[in-house]
Amino acid sequence: MRKPLIAGNWKLHNTVEQSCQLAQALVNDLSDVTETEIVIAPVFTALSEVGKICTESPVQLAAQNCHCMDDGAYTGEVSVPLLADVGCSHIIVGHSERRQYFGETDHFVNVKARAILKHGLTAIICVGETLEQRESGELFEVIAAQIRGALEEITAEQMAQVVLAYEPVWAIGTGKTATSEEAEEVHAYIRGLLHGSFGTDIASQCRILYGGSVKPGNISELMAEEDIDGALVGGASLKAEDFSAIVRFKK
Ligand code: PEP
Repeated sequence: MRKPLIAGNWKLHNTVEQSCQLAQALVNDLSDVTETEIVIAPVFTALSEVGKICTESPVQLAAQNCHCMDDGAYTGEVSVPLLADVGCSHIIVGHSERRQYFGETDHFVNVKARAILKHGLTAIICVGETLEQRESGELFEVIAAQIRGALEEITAEQMAQVVLAYEPVWAIGTGKTATSEEAEEVHAYIRGLLHGSFGTDIASQCRILYGGSVKPGNISELMAEEDIDGALVGGASLKAEDFSAIVRFKK
């Protein structure tokens, strides 16, 4: 059985004070949740303070990005050990906004994922096609290339610390959600790829999240699909009430 995971990506929103208020509201609302794993990803500057609020609560801390090197002359970057130092247990890599605006390639995503796993943190690796790619029939080719690229040289043992997130680019922040059938088709395909590369056990244990305009109103339908194990939530994770409702989705 795969434990559901709901992750909130706060993107470039909220001051330290606002982040702390939101985190505190979630910690208060969700203190009794044990059946679903909960992760929030504030901006870098709020990680340390939010990490303190989440200590001894079921809410876990994620960073939205990291650098692949541990230290050195890499101006402006933040490493995995430094993120672990402020309480991060998870790091998101390969988000489509990073691929689109910051030129991140599958290779770079892979290098970062390996750095995260080397330090024992969990990598939430995002993949997803653009509308153009979907409409031109390249959906599965694109997803396969992103998954294979991101997981290169990652061992079967390390896969226990990998969470995948399927986020169709056309559904992120647009209000357009993939139907649960559309999402399930890709999730099942990704699980098939994992089966081919790592075997049945890893394929059946790896959690694959869906992301793209997830809201309290559509989470239950998505979660009813066999291969959808949780959600990566952007906009709706910025309101404690909505995010809590998503975490407490009806089964
Ligand atoms: C995201 O940022 O990963 C995301 C899915 O955003 P939204 O829920 O706003 O579409």
